[in-house]
Amino acid sequence: MSDLPEFIEYLYEEYRHLNSGNLANYIPELTKANPDWFAISVITADGEVFEIGDSTENFTIQSISKVFVYGMALEDCDRQTLLEKIGVEPTGDPFNSVIRLDENSKRPDNPMVNAGAIATAGLIKGTDATDKLNRLLDMFRRYIGHDVFIDAPVFMSERATGHRNRALANLLLNFGMIEDKIEQILDLYFQQCSLVVNCHDLAMMAATLANRGINPKTKEQAVKPDYVRDILSVMYTCGMYNYAGEWAYRVGIPAKSGVSGGIIAVIPDRAGIAVYSPLIDQRGNSIRGIKVFEALADKFHLHLFDRPLEKCSFLNISPSE
Ligand code: GLN
Repeated sequence: MSDLPEFIEYLYEEYRHLNSGNLANYIPELTKANPDWFAISVITADGEVFEIGDSTENFTIQSISKVFVYGMALEDCDRQTLLEKIGVEPTGDPFNSVIRLDENSKRPDNPMVNAGAIATAGLIKGTDATDKLNRLLDMFRRYIGHDVFIDAPVFMSERATGHRNRALANLLLNFGMIEDKIEQILDLYFQQCSLVVNCHDLAMMAATLANRGINPKTKEQAVKPDYVRDILSVMYTCGMYNYAGEWAYRVGIPAKSGVSGGIIAVIPDRAGIAVYSPLIDQRGNSIRGIKVFEALADKFHLHLFDRPLEKCSFLNISPSE
């Protein structure tokens, strides 16, 4: 990646004037973002940083949080228990769809859409609401490498207007997928979405996943390495909502977007990448973000199927062994 600094500079100049898309306005507080904000951050699995633009501008993480809370639920519940409550199938539907709670199993299709993320928040362990929130914040701290906090106005804004999420939670309760503490579970979900991050932080979180769960800078283990595969799998198949298939085809690396305009992507064993630009398309994905990732994937052959399977040990075993 020797020409990476020049290339991200070129991409920044190329797309900074691309002004199509809109700020997310269904959460009123998110309309306060500046549409010009734009940042690209790349952090390698050994901690080298390449970034440009507004990489220290703060915003709320929104749906990108779902990735990390899912990792925590895997640790809290184990794989099998979690699979009984939340599937791993892409929906092809918008992130907030109410229609695709699986009719037979009554479980949400995957943890990256709102239904699945609310069910995931319901599985986080803790003695009470404060304990659960503190456990979440500590988990995010391990990925990011410094103390974290919640944006209270965004949290209140989501809580006051999140009627659709409330509807999803009621359906999940009806299906027996969450406990009878809907408001507490929704609060935890709204709080996780209101975590304050910047583009650099997001790249560090992605780099931690690229580095098998170990933060490249602090060397702290943020999630058990065994679960990184599970997390990256659902990111790959479901992370970009109803653009997930096209993303897998065009970019080909596990990723997750959020309506505040962030996108993270993980190149396993190599690097984490984050792009921030708050102008989003109809599906809730950052428009400049998608452009940048497509160009990066092309230039550096990031697509997973562009790379040799050098780590696949059975390929080294000769038939006579
Ligand atoms: N907090 C947002 C919501 O629940 C997250 C959505 C998103 O980023 N796609 O609608």
